[in-house]
Order: sequence, then structure tokens, then C-alpha cells
Amino acid sequence: MFPERVLSGMRPTGLLHLGHYHGVLKNWVKLQNEFPCLFFVADWHALTTHYETPEVIKENVWDMVIDWLAAGVDPEKATLFIQSKVPEHAELHLLLSMNTPLSWLERVPTYKDQQEKLSDKDLGTYGFLGYPLLQSADILIYRATQVPVGEDQVPHIELTREIARRFNHFYSKEKLLDAKGAEIGRKPILLEPKALLTEASKMPGLDGMKMSKSYQNTLALRETPENISQKIRKMPTDPARVRRTDPGDPAKCPVWQLHEVYSDDNTKQWVQEGCKSAGIGCIQCKEPIIQAVTAELAPMRERAAMYTENPALVRKIIEEGCDRARAMATDTMKDVRKHMGLDYS
Ligand code: SF4
Repeated sequence: MFPERVLSGMRPTGLLHLGHYHGVLKNWVKLQNEFPCLFFVADWHALTTHYETPEVIKENVWDMVIDWLAAGVDPEKATLFIQSKVPEHAELHLLLSMNTPLSWLERVPTYKDQQEKLSDKDLGTYGFLGYPLLQSADILIYRATQVPVGEDQVPHIELTREIARRFNHFYSKEKLLDAKGAEIGRKPILLEPKALLTEASKMPGLDGMKMSKSYQNTLALRETPENISQKIRKMPTDPARVRRTDPGDPAKCPVWQLHEVYSDDNTKQWVQEGCKSAGIGCIQCKEPIIQAVTAELAPMRERAAMYTENPALVRKIIEEGCDRARAMATDTMKDVRKHMGLDYS
């Protein structure tokens, strides 16, 4: 009844790095060729954790959009927009909050997790408790059929489905009938989305931990070739390789994890044999990684430079995206208001 639509958002809280590329953006680039896609800057979501430092958000919004475009997200294929520029998200969030049981929000696993993880921030706020509901509103307002998520986000999609179901149960009066005229349900006003499970990013950081801004182990999407080379050359290796003649074990080395992402079988074999026999040195072993990362990021740096030099173009892309998104959101809200008895015309 509703067309296929994929929705995904990203919080603008820092420079994007290879972890974002391998974990999210590569998938967006693929999805935009398969479905109508909406990708949004989740600035209101960023405020739930950065309400004391809103300047972080402002600084990062445009850079993040440029990083998306640099990574190959195509505004001709996907709709790119900023959440707060479509205020209907807030209206739907408010209306959904009227009938969402508090316990549904309190039991979202990431609620307590994040509060514990970000213990330096006071997240005992109304906004933070409600952020999964805002996420639901983000999805439901576009009647998105699919939402790409990692395993840990599946409960959020489940919550969104429950919220849609509850809303339809309360407000949909139109019966759906089968061929024989028997009622088989109510015509949905809001659509229950499906989780489009995406594999968690295996992108290791420069220290072997997951690549993340908070671990300071990242390679930014716009890293210069000099920095790429310098950062990879400084990577720690198997501590057993004190001297060049000491053999090592790739299993104990973060550089090997990068070979797993970037190298072909021949190179991997060369690393395994060369490391275990001390036939190669660590700097030598890092060279193919430096080359692979530099080659991967070169076209992105080029595209990013093109957009950085042309901020008016980036703003136009977002403006057009916001208009398109707003038209879809307005459509849904008309329906929602009508069914909730809020159309007074
Ligand atoms: S040779 Fe390569 S895999 Fe072995 S310790 Fe050095 S960098 Fe790591």
C-alpha cells in the first residue's frame, strides 16, 4: 500500500572517519541504488547528549554532509536533509508521546547503557528518555518501510513497530476487508517498518580497538596522504617484535586486522609468513595498508574539496532535500491530525 522507502540518520557530533565509511556510508551508497532513500542529519538527536555544547553540532553539520557526498552519497538518488528543518518530526513526536507508555521507553536497552557509558554527562533528562520515541517519529513520519540498523538497534525498530501498531489501533477506523467482505484488520495510518539488518562494522582503529572518536584511533575520511602514512607507521605492532630479527604473530598485531580489511590473499600470506619468520619488518608490512587506505580515500578527498570550495552547492542540496522531505512529512501529518481529530478546518 505504501511505496518502499529507506530511512537512516547520523548525529553530527564529530568528523567522520573510516569506521563510519565501512560501517554506514558504504551501505548507504549501495542502498541508494536499490531503494528511494532518505538520509538525515540528526541534529535534535545530537542535542539529547550535547545540550550543553550545541556549538559542536553547528560545527559538524556541514562537514558531515560534505563527508557523505565525498563518500559517494548522491543527492540525485537520495534525499538528504536536516531533521530540525522538518519540524513535523517534533509534532509527531509530541503526539506519539501522548499514548506511549513510559515503561516502553525505560526498557529500551540503550537507555541505561548510554547513561552509564556517558556518565560524565547528566542524561537524566526528559529529552534523553524520549529519544527512542523521537527516532520512531523520524521513521514513521516518512512511512519508511526499511531502516538499516546494526544488531544493537533492533529493539528501537521493534519499539517503533509497537508504537505504530498502538497508534493504528487507537485511531484507525477504516476497516480492511478480505475478498468475502470479512474484516481482516484496520487500514494502517502509520506503517510498521522493518529492520534492514546490516553487519556491524569490523573496521579496527589504529590500536586494534574498534575505530571510534572517543578512543582517538581514527583515520578521518579527509585525512591527508602524509597523515595516513604517519599514523599507520606509528601503529603499535606485536610487542614480541622488539628487534627486526624477532619473529612475531599477526594475531597479536592491530596491523594484521587492517590487512584483513584491505589485503588480498597473496598479501595476507606474505604477512603471515614474513611476520612469523621475521622475514619482513613491520614498516614493510604496513606499506600495503598505507597504499590501500590512501587509494580508498583519494577520490573522497577530491570530492570533498570540490564541495568545500562550493558551500552554496551543499546548501542547495540540503535545501532541496529538506523541501522534498517536508512534503512527505506534511502528507503523513495531515493524515495523523485528521485521525486524531485535530483538523479543525
Ligand atoms: S610484521 Fe606486520 S603483522 Fe607482524 S608484527 Fe609487524 S606489523 Fe604486525
